This record gives sequence, structure tokens and C-alpha cells, in this order.
Amino acid sequence: MQQQRVIVVGGGLAGLAAVVRIAEAGIPVDLFSMVPVKRSHSVCAQGGINACNEVARQQGYSEYQHFDETIYGGDYLADQGPVLEMANFAPKVIDLLDRMGVPFNRTGEGQRDLRLFGGSLFKRTHFAGATTGQQLLYALDEQTRRHEAAGLVKKYEFWEFLWPVIEGEVHGLEGDGRCVGIVAQDMRTMQIRAFRGAAVVMATGGCGLVFGKSTNSVICTGGAASRCYQAGAWYGNGEMIQVHPTAIPGADKCRLMSESARGEGGRVWVPQKKGDDRTPADIPENERWYFLEERYPKYGNLVPRDIATREIFDVCVNDGMGIGGQNQVYLDLTHKDPEYLTRKLGGIMEIYEKFAGEDPRHAPMRIFPAVHYSMGGVWTQFTPGTYEPEQPWHEHKPGMAPPIDSEVGRGMRVGAPNNMMTNIPGLYAFGEVNFAFHGATRLGANALLSCIFDGLFSGQSVASYVTQESPAERPIDQVDQSIYDHVVQQEQAKVDRLLDTVEGAEPADDTNPYLIGREMGQEMEAACTVVKTDQRLRQCLDKLAELRERYGRARLPDPAAWTNQSLSYSRAVGDMLILAEMIAKCSLLREESRGSHYRLDFPDRDDERFLKTTVAAFDATKGGVEQHSVEYRPVQTDLVKPRPRTYGKVEKEPAEPAGAASRGAEPVSA
Ligand SMILES: Cc1cc2nc3c(=O)[nH]c(=O)nc-3n(C[C@H](O)[C@H](O)[C@H](O)COP(=O)(O)OP(=O)(O)OC[C@H]3O[C@@H](n4cnc5c(N)ncnc54)[C@H](O)[C@@H]3O)c2cc1C
Repeated sequence: MQQQRVIVVGGGLAGLAAVVRIAEAGIPVDLFSMVPVKRSHSVCAQGGINACNEVARQQGYSEYQHFDETIYGGDYLADQGPVLEMANFAPKVIDLLDRMGVPFNRTGEGQRDLRLFGGSLFKRTHFAGATTGQQLLYALDEQTRRHEAAGLVKKYEFWEFLWPVIEGEVHGLEGDGRCVGIVAQDMRTMQIRAFRGAAVVMATGGCGLVFGKSTNSVICTGGAASRCYQAGAWYGNGEMIQVHPTAIPGADKCRLMSESARGEGGRVWVPQKKGDDRTPADIPENERWYFLEERYPKYGNLVPRDIATREIFDVCVNDGMGIGGQNQVYLDLTHKDPEYLTRKLGGIMEIYEKFAGEDPRHAPMRIFPAVHYSMGGVWTQFTPGTYEPEQPWHEHKPGMAPPIDSEVGRGMRVGAPNNMMTNIPGLYAFGEVNFAFHGATRLGANALLSCIFDGLFSGQSVASYVTQESPAERPIDQVDQSIYDHVVQQEQAKVDRLLDTVEGAEPADDTNPYLIGREMGQEMEAACTVVKTDQRLRQCLDKLAELRERYGRARLPDPAAWTNQSLSYSRAVGDMLILAEMIAKCSLLREESRGSHYRLDFPDRDDERFLKTTVAAFDATKGGVEQHSVEYRPVQTDLVKPRPRTYGKVEKEPAEPAGAASRGAEPVSA
């Protein structure tokens, strides 16, 4: 009998951390990625990664505070056990990464330096300049190569995951519904083949491209998540999409200006006088409107992203107060020492200068919100840990002694085989593609943590499943080959159908997959992001139905039999349309406002009806929007009691005459 192998799809931080952990358990891993793993989207991450450390602890911070902030930030929609475990585990993640050689910024005394980030009054974000993701990814890549050299890891770069292989899915064949491998395509030769795997970890990142222009990379289509969804995996909280407040709008995409800019003192403002066309340097302090500092004196510019985004949107779109009447506000760092900015934020200073043509050390940046992250994702489960307070804890106030210790296993049981397993046995979801950790809003610098935590902590659960559960009893090499052949044929048929549509001339507009994709993005951005309403969401669902009909007639522009990228993208457009429809439907059904999901027609949080996880399941036997059946499952709230999420907002006063008074001219120390 061959040794059981595990498949990891995705070579970003979540995928590589999983590979390292599973290989350390002595289990061979096949790693698939559409791009070289060091080009995975994680490489773009800028600002940092959250964890309590000794310096933070001396200020009164604790792992428990990190947990409480994350649950509050996510508006109580995250299950609390996994978040507690992640916060408790976080310092160990940083220690490990440090030992692997990540060049974290340090203080003069040699301690790891910390910076402020949104949703916290404490410095608890570790960083490596403003290129943190790159440093982390390269460190984990090095560890992966170590296992590769030892023969435990085999990399399949430029291979695209197409479909999970699930036993029992095929009529007339035996099986208990577990995942036993994948079908993938070599993006160079276009060969499609099946791979056996005792377990499959999906670590395929976010779905920003569903919304057209976003801060994400061009491979972040969500196609892989959609394929798992179509094959039977449930999708959790699809409607929870994060729009980041500070990005540089661009013709091709939006480039992020990391929250670290505000963490290092950046101030958001607009001129007090509508239409003021003076250069920013000519506008004196008392004629600037620092609206975040005015409305949220406690957190100032460091309110969580959904709040900052809605405020910027309100100022620009509703009040028409954007710079020069446009949808832009200033993000100003010019009051800081340029040398300090280069040291702390060099990476993003360069990006701004390159794409906007101005040096942000000397001129305020012009920014506007852009789609950034998906809190929703493939639904996963977990086994609770040992922390069981008699009553849910009240708010954990800064500086209070934590009510529990931070030992591993308090939030989730260590090595439980079902930790971060989807509803399909043997199929796991780690990293951004997983829905578990961020509820209705992710706090900045918690994503990198959740990715690495998933890999290192729940990688152990994958090893348990492989060695103790069904694959141990019925090894994967005994699975009937016909199951794999069936899925290969299914995927080959899809490719053949697309290739058959190629004709001599360019496809007409209504059948061009690139234009269908663009229209989808524009529609989703307009209807399903900052402000949603019943009417607009229904209009969006109608548009998506039209696009799905057109996609059924789509014509591929390129017949190439080698490295056909238009095939890969066109295929993904079909999968993105399904994800988009599910997101729009879930947005329509959640008749409340919570975190990033803001319904103008239901502006309040409604715990009675909606303190619940949205779970969508796909039913291919139905048509159109009926294919998505949506139900609500209870959220774990037994550790911290839900409380109103206001971030100390000071209610808006009636509008003052433009230019009348000074509005919050002094910086607020957060
Ligand atoms: C500009 C930017 C800056 C950010 N900065 C921060 C930050 O400072 N701190 C923070 O906490 N978070 C940050 N984030 C969020 C964070 O970077 C991501 O959430 C995180 O890196 C996602 O990692 P991942 O491992 O889940 O997926 P990714 O890094 O996106 O990797 C996905 C992997 O899946 C592979 N893949 C995808 N589809 C397929 C397929 N069909 N077949 C085969 N392989 C496939 C890809 O090739 C890739 O290897 C930032 C995000 C952006 C956009």
C-alpha cells in the first residue's frame, strides 16, 4: 500500500503553512497553485499581523483583549471558539516566524516593534516595513522547500484546480460522500488529470474579481471556491464583503494604501468648504474637516474598515464634500518625518509615488474605498475547546485581567479532525477562502494571522483525519478509479464545449466572456458593497440572470492548445457568476445591518432574526437563483455577550455652514 498523500490547493500563506504542518507530521503533500507560490496574492499584504506580545502586555493588552476586539469588530457573527484559539495562538505564530528569519521591524531595544491598526486602542500589530506579506510568504516558502528537498512535498505550479473528487457523488458507485482527490489542469500543456488525496485542503484565497476592480490580484476570482460550492460544499456568510477605505482608484485596478498609513498617524480629511480648489498645503488646519476624528473621538482614524468606508462614502457621495467634488478624500501623512515614513512605510510610499505621481511624504494622498476582502467563504466546522464560562463574559475593558489563561486548546480542541473541515468529509478550507474567523467585518492585520493559524493549527487536524479516520480504515488507493475518470470527463467536456465556440471573428459583445465578466463586476460593486437595498439587489439578481444566460452562449476568443489563458479566465467567469448570484441573494435575505453588510432599508442590527450564520447550499437540479438554498445556523455566543457596536460614535450634528468652524483640527491620539 502506498503512503497516503494529502493535497493542498493554494500556495499563499494559508496553503504553505498547511503544507509545512502536514509534512512535519510525516505525511506527503501535493501542492497545487495557478501561479508560482511566491507570486500568490499573500505577497501583496502590506501592513502587518496581529498578536499580543510582551510589550503589548505591559500596556495592559492580552490575548483575551485581542479575542474580544475581533468578535466585537466582526459584529458577533464569528463563532467564538475558533477566534479565541487564534488569538491565544497568535504570539506563538510570531515567535515561530521570527525563528524562521522574518525581518520584523524592531525597536531600539531590540524588541519586535508594534504599530496601531484599526479596531484597537493598543499597538499589537507586528510588521516588516510595509511588505509584511512578502516577508512571511518567503519564510514559509523556504520551509516548504526544505520538505520538498526531503521528498515530502511535490509542487504542481501552473496547475489549476477544477473540481473536487467526491466519493458517492457518481450514481451507481459506492462511497460515503468523502473527498478523495481533485481534478486539475496543467495550464501549459492543458492536460486534465485526476490526483488522489486522502484529504484536500482548499487554500485558494479571496474572490475580489467578482466585484470587478478591487485591491486583489487578477487570480483572485473565487473560481475554486465556487467549484467546491457547486460540488456540494456549503458557503458561509457570502454577503459579508469588506470594502477597504483607503485605496488609489486606477483604470485597471485599485491599489491599496494600507491601514498601516493610518496606524502610523495618517489623518483622513476633506476641505470644509465644498468645491475648495486650493492645493492641500494652502488649506489651513482650521479649514479642514477631519470627519473620522470628529465623529469617533475614541478611535479617530482607526475605526474599523466598514465604518471608515461608510463615512468616506457618506462625505463624498451623500454630502458631495469629496476633494474637488470627486469621490476622493485626503489621507495625510505630511505632518510626519519623511525619514520615519520611509523606514516604517517605504513599500506603500513607493507604490503611491509610482501610480499617483506624487510623493506622499510631501503631499497628502487622494484615496477612495475599494473592494478588498471576503469575510464570507466556504463553510467550516470545529470542535469547541475547554473554555466554558458559566455565563458569556461581558465586555473585556482594556487593561482588565483576562478571565482565562491563554493555553492552547481553550477555544478549539487541538487536533480534532473536523477543525476547519467543510460539510464534505476530508475537504478542508483554510485562509481567506474559509468563512470562520472574521464575522461581519475583519479587523486589519487579522487575515495574515488567520491564514497562518489555519495552516499550523488545523493542519494538525488534517493529519488526525488521515491517520485516524476514514482514510485509515479505507485507504485512498482502494477508491474505484471510475470515480476519478468520471470527473476528468466532466471537466474535459466543459473545456471542449468552450473550445467549440471559437470562431474566426472576435466574439460579439453580448457573448464575449471578458465583457460579461466586466459587467458582472460593475453590477456587483454597485449593488452589493457599501450600501445595499432590496430594490437594488433585486435589480442586480435580474442582471446576473441576464449575464448567466449570455454566458451560456459565450464564445471563447482564443483556440490555443497551449497555455490558453482566455480559456482559464472564461471558465472562471461562469463560476464567478454563480458566486455573485449567491452573494446577492444572501445580501437580499439578510434584512438588517451588521458590520460590512449595510442595508439602507434595514439600518439596524437585528439579533433576534439574524445573529446567525448564513449558509448557502447549491442545488444544480434547480434553475437560476433557486439553485442557492439559504438557511441560517446558530452562531456561538457563549463566551462573549453581544453588545452594541458603536466604537464610541458621537452622533452627527446638523450640518454647519461650509467653512464656519474648526472641526477636529487637532490629531486625536488613539
Ligand atoms: C493589497 C492587500 C494588502 C493586504 N495586507 C494585509 C495585511 O497587511 N495584513 C493582513 O492581515 N491582511 C492583509 N491583506 C489580506 C491578506 O493578504 C489575504 O487575505 C491573505 O494573504 C490570503 O491568503 P491565502 O493564503 O488565503 O490566499 P492567497 O495568498 O490569495 O493564495 C491563494 C493561492 O491559491 C492558488 N489558487 C487560487 N485558485 C486556484 C485554482 N483554481 N487552482 C490552483 N490554485 C489556485 C493561488 O495560485 C495561490 O497560490 C491584504 C490584502 C490585499 C489585497
